[in-house]
Amino acid sequence: MPHDNSEFEHPHNLLPSDPELRVKALETILVRKGLVDPAARDAIIDTYENRIGPQNGARIVAKSWCDDDFRRELLEDATSAANSLGYSGRQGGHVVAVENTPDLHNVVVCTLCSCYPWPLLGVPPAWYKSDAYRSRMVREPRQVLLEFGLEIERGRKVRVWDSTAEIRYLVVPMRPAGTENLGENELAKWVTRDSMVGTGLPACPETA
Ligand code: FE
Repeated sequence: MPHDNSEFEHPHNLLPSDPELRVKALETILVRKGLVDPAARDAIIDTYENRIGPQNGARIVAKSWCDDDFRRELLEDATSAANSLGYSGRQGGHVVAVENTPDLHNVVVCTLCSCYPWPLLGVPPAWYKSDAYRSRMVREPRQVLLEFGLEIERGRKVRVWDSTAEIRYLVVPMRPAGTENLGENELAKWVTRDSMVGTGLPACPETA
């Protein structure tokens, strides 16, 4: 391999120019050798995309809005609180819940790769895995949030949490005004995936 200093200054340049092509080639070899069963892989992806997805996290957030004891438990030990509702599994070993307040907005990134609480949010969206999101969210979070359509008032702090394979974060957004009469099931529909990553806010399901 050529030793050109620019490669070390820009490590992402070492990524293949066409990652999808390489993935496809690898996949073809693994399937041909019988090391990967495409049906089993599709079942795992389907599970996290459609059967799990962000609705698990949404149920947790909605319950925390309605039940103070559960909210305290969630903020103290989110892994245990999630387990108590039956949500656990791979990529969800240790979850920490971080709560938005009028003074503080939380947002989650994985600067190293794409760590994400799968059992609560499903598989991460493509933007979460992008170089731009991972590098810019830590440098200029307010600007990146603005590009997501989220303007954080100047007086409100923004805290960026860097996920790892050991700790994954769940943002607990603030309960929207005007939802006082709604129950947990209705509220869960307001809790968007992005509001639990911190790049969005809960939204009325009729207008979302
Ligand atoms: Fe990661």
